[in-house]
Amino acid sequence: MTTTDFTPSNFIRNIILEDLKRNKNDGRVHTRFPPEPNGYLHIGHAKSICLNFGLAAEFGGLCNLRFDDTNPSKEDVEYVEAIKQDVRWLGFDWGNREYYASDYFEQLYEWAVQLIEAGKAYVCDLSAEQIREYRGTLTEPGKESPYRARSVEENLDLFQRMRAGEFPDGSRTLRAKIDMASPNLNMRDPVMYRIVHATHHRTGDKWCIYPTYDFAHGQSDSIEGITHSICTLEFEDHRPLYDWFLDQLNIHHPQQIEFARLNLAYTVLSKRRLLELVEGGYVSGWDDPRMPTLSGLRRRGYTPGSIRNFCERIGVAKKNSVVDIAMLEHCIREDLNKRAPRVMAVLRPLRVVIDNYPENQTEDLEALNNPEDPSMGTRKLPFSRVLYIEGEDFREDPPKQFFRLAPGREVRLRYAYIIKCIGVVKDAETGEVTELHCTYDPDTKSGSPQSGRKVKSTIHWVSAPHSLQAEVRLYNHLFVRPDPEDVEEGADWKSNLNRNSLERLPSCRVERSLAGAAPGSRYQFERLGYFCVDSIDSSDEKLVFNRTVTLRDPWARIEKALKEGAESS
Ligand code: ATP
Ligand code: MG
Repeated sequence: MTTTDFTPSNFIRNIILEDLKRNKNDGRVHTRFPPEPNGYLHIGHAKSICLNFGLAAEFGGLCNLRFDDTNPSKEDVEYVEAIKQDVRWLGFDWGNREYYASDYFEQLYEWAVQLIEAGKAYVCDLSAEQIREYRGTLTEPGKESPYRARSVEENLDLFQRMRAGEFPDGSRTLRAKIDMASPNLNMRDPVMYRIVHATHHRTGDKWCIYPTYDFAHGQSDSIEGITHSICTLEFEDHRPLYDWFLDQLNIHHPQQIEFARLNLAYTVLSKRRLLELVEGGYVSGWDDPRMPTLSGLRRRGYTPGSIRNFCERIGVAKKNSVVDIAMLEHCIREDLNKRAPRVMAVLRPLRVVIDNYPENQTEDLEALNNPEDPSMGTRKLPFSRVLYIEGEDFREDPPKQFFRLAPGREVRLRYAYIIKCIGVVKDAETGEVTELHCTYDPDTKSGSPQSGRKVKSTIHWVSAPHSLQAEVRLYNHLFVRPDPEDVEEGADWKSNLNRNSLERLPSCRVERSLAGAAPGSRYQFERLGYFCVDSIDSSDEKLVFNRTVTLRDPWARIEKALKEGAESS
């Protein structure tokens, strides 16, 4: 189910190129990103944003930001603001073209009246449930509503009174009069307006009837002069209906083009599902670093460039597929490898005393800030008699392939000396190793002429008295299955939530150069991964880091294997 190949050629770009050749739309390219403000944006939306803004930029066109805000009961200004922040953060600019479907309510109402007058729309008194029953199925035609034959005058009167607030919620709808026998269910007299006495986040209580998404979306695109209405595949079946409205109203006709939505393994990309996780307290909020939302990814340490790069690589296809999360992780590693300063941090500290190093002595060692980029310079690392190393880097009884520290063994401390383990202190009760005693070889200082002596491994460390305490949060997949919807019969998709998706390590030690690290700043902890200062919980008193991604890169291996496979075939 996981796919690893992507489409380098973009069929939407080809359609636009063809249109430009024929001077369709007078050579204009005008797209839009049309979110419904009922949740925060996720990485799937990023694909649509990059595509719409990207195509407009490539062809010297424009891209609007339009809020499709036709459902007052689910929408909120909080979401509007968050969406704007996320689009801007991704690096896109809609100029002064911030639009709202709700700004078109009056125009949409007039168009509805026009359709009534033309005998193409009627007020229907069937309940939502009855409408469903009358609609029929894929194999059976629908049944006509008994109200379908109402006169134009009666329809005009009732629709006007619907607007005036005379009828309760759900008691009546305005429906398009199309074809109850159409093989396309969307054409079986779809609802255009419903009665909802709810306060809208922009129009307040001005309206108590609201257009459906289907009646608002195509006309909103038309009003804005959109040339290419790019949307996801599930709207393919709605296209004939959008076309029907535009044709009946005889207004500008954008061209709708559908592409496959992004699905990402081990997570859900649906605002409804994500809202359920937030409201149920399964995550700490929309910006929980485990969430596939843009605010979650940002807090986790993802850069906008890495997400744009990811969207580019996955390409645009006509067929639904699932993208391996390893590809997203590959993109952030690639970016951070170039720019993140290297530091040393110990997640599970084990105390080491260097017996032959003078007490009260400290020396400053020189460390590279980024071996990939010498222009990032060097820093001083304090070395002293008492250090912390990573608990995992010591084994009292080392297995065959373990080349790190063990009794009687030597390792190199990064940027420092070779040390040898000569003693192990254990907790009398638990038997747990609590401290190591080592000696260091003064002739092996990194960079010195005699430092050439080789040992099998190099480990990271921090000087105990010079290091700072920090909390580090490690994240794993939010779900245990690649497809979270894959559950035993009757079970809820949330039963696939990964109980171990968050691990908090409160007593880590980090090098002192991290004192005062700014929220959001990103580092490579040597040998461990990329980490970022948490923008909410970190403070000068208590540093908190999020692990963005580990250093291990399974995707690079997959890609290499693919390339080799392609070359040999
Ligand atoms: P969700 O199912 O998460 O609620 P939606 O499609 O209802 O998504 P909208 O706010 O209507 O959310 O989406 C705005 C735009 O983003 C639409 O054009 C939609 O097609 C696109 N979009 C949404 N999800 C994805 C996705 N997973 N991949 C690509 N584009 C997407
Ligand atoms: Mg939607």
